[in-house]
Amino acid sequence: MKQLGSMLTRARRALKLSNALPAWLLAGAALAFGHGAFAADAKAAGGAGAKIPVVAAENFYGDVVRQLGGERVDVTSILSNPDQDPHLFEASPTTARALQHASLVVYNGADYDPWMAKLLAASKGTQRTVIVAADLVGKKGGDNPHLWYDPATMPKVARALSDALVAADPAHKSAYDANLAKFLDSLKPIDAKVAELHGRYAGVPVTATEPVFGYMSDAIGLDMRNLRFQLATMNDTEASASDIAAFERDLRERRVRVLIYNSQATEALTRRMLKLAQQSKVPSMSVTETLPAGKTYQTWMLTQLDALDKALAASGAKGKTP
Ligand SMILES: [Zn+2]
Repeated sequence: MKQLGSMLTRARRALKLSNALPAWLLAGAALAFGHGAFAADAKAAGGAGAKIPVVAAENFYGDVVRQLGGERVDVTSILSNPDQDPHLFEASPTTARALQHASLVVYNGADYDPWMAKLLAASKGTQRTVIVAADLVGKKGGDNPHLWYDPATMPKVARALSDALVAADPAHKSAYDANLAKFLDSLKPIDAKVAELHGRYAGVPVTATEPVFGYMSDAIGLDMRNLRFQLATMNDTEASASDIAAFERDLRERRVRVLIYNSQATEALTRRMLKLAQQSKVPSMSVTETLPAGKTYQTWMLTQLDALDKALAASGAKGKTP
């Protein structure tokens, strides 16, 4: 029965993905006619006081738009609950309605949010600019989709968003430019922390229940283990017996220094691994896929990097000294 269940899950996911149109196609089409008409729209909608309606599929992109647009944007974020597994999200009529009025849309792509491409295709004809993070960083379906954990991603997304805001509302270009400069500057402490951790912990073996932290781990130079197990968690399929055994051995024999625990994509198996880490005295740290309430993208990343630093320090790990 378990096998059948997992086959059905896989079939359902394959079906969902095959319904989605390629993101590049949509993004290209929208960009081709988006900018000019979008600017005209913003003016027609009520002149100087009208806010630019923006929809972000994920709330960390929504947070960046808010930082870049200030009071001139009205942002709706679709995925905003850090207690729900975003990989299992299915769009509702509410999602579709939010998109109808958006002049600017931003989503992750790389099959993280295949429902976005479908919804956009279903409401063709509306004039809007669409920004797909995956296209900006050259990632596609099959790559690790958690692109916002790569320190190189958000500067690119922010520049594209800022360009779109300027195109929509050229009268306030200097304000958007200033906000972009401020935003890019505010990412520097994240880069500094990553460099600091790289200096101390490059090469240290760690593991994770799900690949959400993968790009950040790579940026720090950690040796990330048990990738197949992590993919199974992400895809809601069953990890193989040998992958589970390898994960357990890594914890029990303390071959890894830290367990990075995705508290947003959990199931009995990942909870069991967390418990085993505690029993084996392998420090763990929690990460989420979605921006928690009360945090900005920057404070969220820094909080998690600090937690990782503490966990690595508690484990007594030392990186390769050059
Ligand atoms: Zn994930």
